[in-house]
Amino acid sequence: MKPFTFERATSPEQAVSAFAAQPHARFLAGGTNLVDLMKLGVETPEHLIDVSRLPLNDIEPTADGGLRVGANVRNSDLAAHTTVCRSYPALAQALLAGASGQLRNLATTGGNLLQRTRCPYFQDLSAPCNKREPGSGCSAREGVNRDMAVLGHSEHCVATHPSDMAVALAAYDAQLELLGPEGSRTVPAAEFHRLPEDTPQRDTVLRPGELISHVTLPPPPAGARAAYRKARDRASYAFALASAAAVLAVDGDGTVRHAALAFGGLAHRPWRARTAEQVLTGSRADAETFARAADAELAAARPLSDNAFKVPLARNLAVHTLTALTGDAPNRPAGT
Ligand SMILES: Cc1cc2nc3c(=O)[nH]c(=O)nc-3n(C[C@H](O)[C@H](O)[C@H](O)COP(=O)(O)OP(=O)(O)OC[C@H]3O[C@@H](n4cnc5c(N)ncnc54)[C@H](O)[C@@H]3O)c2cc1C
Repeated sequence: MKPFTFERATSPEQAVSAFAAQPHARFLAGGTNLVDLMKLGVETPEHLIDVSRLPLNDIEPTADGGLRVGANVRNSDLAAHTTVCRSYPALAQALLAGASGQLRNLATTGGNLLQRTRCPYFQDLSAPCNKREPGSGCSAREGVNRDMAVLGHSEHCVATHPSDMAVALAAYDAQLELLGPEGSRTVPAAEFHRLPEDTPQRDTVLRPGELISHVTLPPPPAGARAAYRKARDRASYAFALASAAAVLAVDGDGTVRHAALAFGGLAHRPWRARTAEQVLTGSRADAETFARAADAELAAARPLSDNAFKVPLARNLAVHTLTALTGDAPNRPAGT
């Protein structure tokens, strides 16, 4: 591993100032992704600023009935929080679908959002990768691409974003609070991650040296039910081939009043399915509508040589997830 210097931040503002003074710095939270990438030589920071002890550990109700989550809240704690289980079940389910118990005990809300792609070529220093080394080429496009993107990819990058939690946050219309050298700003979770275009080295709209301080969830729509479903090669400890987070509110006459749908595992960012949502809203909440909505969204898919299976997989996940939300089953994460 390349040598680096280390400091422990004393406040969010001090962390941001320390970063500004060290252009090749990285914030360190749980370290479950950053340290792995440093060992591989993919990440080579000269300076680490440990933000894991900053007082960003609270989960607090907001005045409008939502929830504000500190960036250092561990994935396990967020998944087990009473309000999250009761009011944001798709978030709890997404968190519990990620990694392992040990990893979730260490992984933070901020770090989870900023974990990097699991594309094997990104992690392999001997392979060209535009995300790791801009201009070197994309090995995955014509290589082993079963796990790669089917939506929104570019000739420069076909990697997918790996976070489960981020997919649920996009569906819940969460907002990210960022603190940077020029002050604070708020970005919708659904617009935080980028498509690769010709700059795949940039995963997000985060500016250099900005710290994620909080994630705020608005109150869920009245009467809404929600769920997260993930398809993967193993029952645990595996990233999504495809996943779907859905938030659905249906009126008494069976008409969809509110629909939010986001896919994971299909693109360089959590894929908010706006086209499907337009089909759903105002339509009858039944399997025919759900299939029509999923098909409308996935018409934009451009599968690679080995991942055409992701399109029907995502379609079926969306239809099953939405259908389950119209049934009588309790809308709670498993184990709560
Ligand atoms: C074997 C394995 C399996 C996994 N499976 C899954 C899975 O199925 N689903 C899933 O979603 N995840 C999975 N993960 C990934 C795991 O969720 C992430 O590693 C973890 O969430 C990262 O959080 P962290 O706090 O450890 O981040 P770190 O590793 O500390 O940091 C990650 C990145 O975020 C930056 N960062 C951290 N905090 C902040 C902040 N507040 N502001 C700005 N930048 C910040 C760091 O600089 C770094 O670039 C898996 C990981 C492993 C090792």
